[in-house]
Amino acid sequence: EAKILPLKMHGIRREQLDDCALKVCETLAQAGFKGYLVGGAVRDLLLGGTPKDFDVATDATPEEVRRLFRRSRIIGRRFQIVHVMCGRETIEVTTFRANGQKEAEDEDAHGDDAPAASRRLTDEHGRLLSDNVFGSMADDAARRDFTINALYYDPAREEVHDYFGGVGDCKKRVLRMIGDPETRYREDPVRMLRAARFAAKLDFHIDPETRKPVATLAPLLANIPRARIFDEALKLLLSGHALRGVHQLRAEGLHHGMLPLLDTILDDTTGERFITAALKSTDARIQSDRPSSPAFLFGTLLWPQVVKRWKALEAAGEKPQPALFVAMDEVLDAQRGQLAIPRRYDGMMKEIWALQPRFEQRGGQRPFRLLEHPRFRAAYDFLLLRAEAGEVPSELGEWWTRFQEVDDDARAGMLLADT
Ligand code: ATP
Ligand code: MG
Repeated sequence: EAKILPLKMHGIRREQLDDCALKVCETLAQAGFKGYLVGGAVRDLLLGGTPKDFDVATDATPEEVRRLFRRSRIIGRRFQIVHVMCGRETIEVTTFRANGQKEAEDEDAHGDDAPAASRRLTDEHGRLLSDNVFGSMADDAARRDFTINALYYDPAREEVHDYFGGVGDCKKRVLRMIGDPETRYREDPVRMLRAARFAAKLDFHIDPETRKPVATLAPLLANIPRARIFDEALKLLLSGHALRGVHQLRAEGLHHGMLPLLDTILDDTTGERFITAALKSTDARIQSDRPSSPAFLFGTLLWPQVVKRWKALEAAGEKPQPALFVAMDEVLDAQRGQLAIPRRYDGMMKEIWALQPRFEQRGGQRPFRLLEHPRFRAAYDFLLLRAEAGEVPSELGEWWTRFQEVDDDARAGMLLADT
């Protein structure tokens, strides 16, 4: 029941695949199996973009796949996929499967956070309760989320297999759920976040039928393991379109489930300006292939709350530096009940925050010591965002920009009398 579209209807040439993905598809075909490029890569190629990874779908079982590739290994317990290594790359090869496995797989991936009850369904005595539920290629297409994510590309024939009109939706720039949207969101509420993320990232319009149930179903996100929500938040924030994504979340009423901290931030003008500046700069970095650290990003998202507490404590008579430290800990504790930013980012967030008051000290040896600090660069980038938001005078940011550029003699001349 799939439409098979020839090259002239989709324009994807096999040379656009990376060598690894091509090789994997070819090897599968030579062994008599199907091997198609699937999911995000086909979508991105269709839209003229560069895929960031390549996934392959096949009718070969994981064991059959593993036997075909010397450098490969099966990963996952209940739901097995095969990683085929080639050069420095890894291609994920998935056997066609039918619906009903997705949630279990995700709970496996986040075993630590899944409630015990749902994990118990995996095994009682370390034995698999059910094996992978394999399915046909049509089953495999039907269990995917959006029409544009259910396209299969056959490199040998340069054909796209399109089960649900995904190619047309790509052309119309419409994000459309496969099947009945409400049912599909209930099956896996994270699909609501994915809808917001893809709409922002691809600049697509969400089909009204696909969009409608979200307003009422958004609270279902409360039952999703926090680690999975966090992963999804990170994907959105690092998509290169975080600013649009965050606005999309708010428009859909989804931020309560994902970034509840946005509520408090965005009713405050300086906070809003700061977050906007931070998201813009993250988007710019990602779009020009520069690294962007999650700790820095979450540090910016939480900063307006830190400032609020910090200033309140200062107003109550606390000294600036100790007040800042108390505020940092309070905010970190409070957010754990919300988004659950993993603790591994705490150290770096705190360092960046704690360095902020030190930028105000521009006399004696202190600016030189700050310059030597291993987190100087991140903390300075953070300072510039504060200046952009009007939280500190822009003159302060400019001073530090110049201080880095000039030689030691000129630096000595820049020092201010201690304040
Ligand atoms: P990205 O470029 O952001 O990675 P992607 O489409 O590759 O986009 P992934 O999260 O990597 O997204 O998932 C790969 C594919 O698996 C998707 O294209 C979709 O077909 C399917 N998929 C992923 N998550 C779900 C889900 N929650 N429900 C249904 N299908 C899903
Ligand atoms: Mg992907």
